[in-house]
Amino acid sequence: MSAVADVGLIGLAVMGQNLILNIADHGFKVAAFNRTTSKVQHFLDNEAKGNDNVVGAFSIEEFVAKLKKPRRIILLVKAGSAVDAFIDTLLPHLDQGDIIIDGGNSHFPDSNRRAKELAAKGIRFVGSGVSGGEEGARYGPSLMPGGNEEAWPYIKEIFQSVSAKSDGEPCCDWVGPEGSGHFVKMVHNGIEYGDMQLIAEAYDIMKRIGGFTSKEIGEVFAKWNKGVLDSFLVEITRDILLFDDVDGTPLVEKILDSAGQKGTGKWTAINALDLGMPVTLIGEAVFARCLSAVKSERVKASHILSGPEIPKDAIKDKQAFVDDLEQALYASKIISYAQGFMLIREAAKEYGWKLNNPAIALMWRGGCIIRSVFLGEITKAYRVNPDLENLLFDDFFKNAINKAQSGWRKTLALSTTYGIASPAFATALAFYDGYRSARVPANLIQAQRDYFGAHTFKVLPEAASENLPEGKNIHINWTGKG
Ligand code: NAP
Repeated sequence: MSAVADVGLIGLAVMGQNLILNIADHGFKVAAFNRTTSKVQHFLDNEAKGNDNVVGAFSIEEFVAKLKKPRRIILLVKAGSAVDAFIDTLLPHLDQGDIIIDGGNSHFPDSNRRAKELAAKGIRFVGSGVSGGEEGARYGPSLMPGGNEEAWPYIKEIFQSVSAKSDGEPCCDWVGPEGSGHFVKMVHNGIEYGDMQLIAEAYDIMKRIGGFTSKEIGEVFAKWNKGVLDSFLVEITRDILLFDDVDGTPLVEKILDSAGQKGTGKWTAINALDLGMPVTLIGEAVFARCLSAVKSERVKASHILSGPEIPKDAIKDKQAFVDDLEQALYASKIISYAQGFMLIREAAKEYGWKLNNPAIALMWRGGCIIRSVFLGEITKAYRVNPDLENLLFDDFFKNAINKAQSGWRKTLALSTTYGIASPAFATALAFYDGYRSARVPANLIQAQRDYFGAHTFKVLPEAASENLPEGKNIHINWTGKG
C-alpha cells in the first residue's frame, strides 16, 4: 500500500467531514478514518464523492499506511476519553517524529498531559483549538495550535492554507507550548459567553425599558454592526431579531429563556479563580446562564418578589438611549477582552509558557464565533507591544473606554433604577472602577481578617512607624483585652 496522503483525519462527525473537504480543496490529499467504519464508506459515497484528494481507510493499519512520513494525524473526535483511546490505538503503529494533532475541544490540562506523555515516546503532540463550527471547518476556521513546536514546520502550510484569513493574513499561528492552544481556545469560548451575555443584556434593556419591538431592536443591531461593534455575533443577533415565525411574529420571543452550556465558559471561570485573576465578566456570563436555567424558580419568585415599575415613557430620547447603550456594550466588551488577556498573561507566567500574544488576537480576528473588527485593534495593540501589561493601557482602548464611560454609566443607572438585571454590564464597570483605583477598601478586609483570625496585615509604606514597621506581618489585639 503506498503512502499517498499528506495528512490523516480521524472522526467523521460534522467537524471532521467539513475539515477534510476544506483541506482537500486546498490541494492536500487526506486519509479519512472513523471508529464506526461504515461512516467512512458513507462519506466517500456522499460528501466526498468524486473528490480525488480524499481517500478512505477501514482499519487503523490501512489508515497509518496511507500517510506520508512524518505522519500528520488530526483527531476530531469527542473530547475526553475518545482522544486517549485513539492515541493508544495509534501508538503501536507510529514512528518517532510522527505528529498527532487533537483538534477537539479538549480541556488544556489533558493536552498538557498528552504533550508530555507523547514527547516521552518520541511522538510530537499538537493540541489545536478549532473555532467557527461546521461552517468554519468547511470554509476557514480559526485555528489555535500549540504543543510540541517541532511539529509546526510540518503542519504550518496545511493549517495556514485552510484557516480563515483576515486582511489576507491566516487566522492561525503557533500559540505556544503544551496545552496552550487549547487554553487559548478555552478563553476564546469564555469570551464568547461574555459577548453573548452583553448582547442579550442590551436586547433586554431595549425591550423592557425602551419598549422596543424585536424589529426595532433588530434595526439597532443592524446599525451597530456598521460601527465599532461590527462582529459576527452582532450580525447574527440582527438576523435572529428580524426573523419571524410562520404566524408573522418574532420567533425569538417564543424561545424558552433557559440557556444551555457545554462547559468551556465554566472552565475559563474556574481557571480564573485558580489563578486568582478577576475575570469577572466571563464569570457573570456563566452565572447568568445558571440563573436562566432555574426557570420554574424564577417564575415563582416573579410572583413573590417585587421591583420598580417601568413607566411606558421611561425613555424620552430614544436615540440618546440607544447611543448610550452602544457605548455600554462597547466599553464592557473592552473590559471582557482585557480580562481575558489578563488570564492568558497569568497562565503564561504560571505554566511557564512563552505565548504569541499578537497572533492570539489575529487568530480570533476571523473564522471564529467572536470574530470582529474590534479584534483588529487588539492585534494592532499587541503588535506594537507584545508584552502589553493590560489592554486598557493601550492608547486606542484607553481613549475608547474613556469616551464610552458616560453612556456606560447612564445605561447602568437606568437598568438599576428600573430593576433590569444587567450583570455583565455592571461587573465590567465595577472592574473598571476598581482597577483604576490606587486604593481599594481591602485595608478594612485585612483588619477584619486580623481581628477574627490573627491573619496579620502589612502597613502602607508611607504610614510605617516604630510600632508599625514597614514590610512586617503585624498582628494587633483589636479589643485591647487580654
Ligand atoms: P462529536 O459529536 O463531538 O464526536 C463524534 C466523533 O467522535 C465521531 O467520529 C465518533 O465516532 C467519535 N467518538 C465518540 N466517542 C468515541 C470513543 N469513545 N472512541 C472513539 N471515537 C469516539 O463531533 P463534532 O461535533 O464533529 O466535534 C468533534 C470535536 O470538535 C469535538 O471535540 C468538539 O467539541 C469539537 N468542536 C466542535 C464544534 C462544533 O461546532 N460541532 C466546534 C469546535 C470544536 P463514531 O462515529 O464511531 O461514534
